[in-house]
Amino acid sequence: MPPVVYQEKCRGCGKCEEVCPGDLMELNEDKKAFCRSRRDCWDCMACVKACQYDALETRIPYQLGYYPARLIPKMKEKEIEWTCIDINGKVDKFLVKTYNK
Ligand code: SF4
Ligand code: SF4
Repeated sequence: MPPVVYQEKCRGCGKCEEVCPGDLMELNEDKKAFCRSRRDCWDCMACVKACQYDALETRIPYQLGYYPARLIPKMKEKEIEWTCIDINGKVDKFLVKTYNK
């Protein structure tokens, strides 16, 4: 399931386009991001992590959480802060270190 793009937050920086390993993200004529082939997205979340404007969001596949469930990574210098929102709106946060020294 490709990321949801919040058009009003997208600044057209092109980072998501740069990092997508499947070359799936593009900017439209209005410089807003979109996924050009929804079925080819494998939810790697590289684009979501790269977006510094919170314009992209992963929706958890229905097999795991049904549509309203969301997973939001916030990249920090030495860790990723993951926010998981379940179908009832319950919010959990997890910190995962990305720096091993
Ligand atoms: S990285 Fe975010 S702000 Fe930049 S083009 Fe993609 S969605 Fe828009
Ligand atoms: S989740 Fe991964 S494969 Fe899907 S559009 Fe984003 S970067 Fe590309």
